[in-house]
Amino acid sequence: MRLVIMGPPGAGKGTQADGIASRLGIPHISTGDIFRANVAQGTALGIEAKRYMDAGEYVPDGVTNSMVRDRLNQADCKPGFLLDGYPRTLEQVGELDSMLNAGGAALDRALELTVDVDEVVTRLVKRAQEQGRADDTEDVIRRRLEVYAEQTAPLTALYAKRNVLSQVDGMGAVEEVTARLLKVLGV
Ligand code: AMP
Repeated sequence: MRLVIMGPPGAGKGTQADGIASRLGIPHISTGDIFRANVAQGTALGIEAKRYMDAGEYVPDGVTNSMVRDRLNQADCKPGFLLDGYPRTLEQVGELDSMLNAGGAALDRALELTVDVDEVVTRLVKRAQEQGRADDTEDVIRRRLEVYAEQTAPLTALYAKRNVLSQVDGMGAVEEVTARLLKVLGV
């Protein structure tokens, strides 16, 4: 199964992605994790990516797309994959389409975790206080959720038009959310 997962900060996307991918026996590919690993190892890719990540910006499409292309060409992606954090722009959607088309494949489903904004804000404010991140105020967190919604809307609209979007309620216990995701995938 070839899948994409999207979701706002605080939706527990990484945890869900890990669970779903291991259940389906496909790799969980997080572009953020790959970039962070490259930064930690000081690779050329990491050095390039760090400049943008530190500034809170997207890594340029050219760098990101070729990294994803290389990853999807690896043998473990033959049975499928779960992409997390990619695509993030319409250009990346087009790139992913062409990567898949080249192998005669298509995306099976784009999953989006939906959240109750007030509940997530409360959760993230509490987490920031516990971790001593005083600059993560309620306003900053609300803004981050707005930015996510603005940036994701064109992608979810496109996937909805293609009839591959499934929006899943991301609130509740981890296992409950996992069960909802597996249900829409028919497993
Ligand atoms: P994340 O952990 O998904 O929030 O990603 C951390 C950082 O990696 C982001 O703030 C971006 O700088 C970069 N990044 C991850 N995925 C992408 C992507 N699809 N396109 C561009 N930059 C990305």
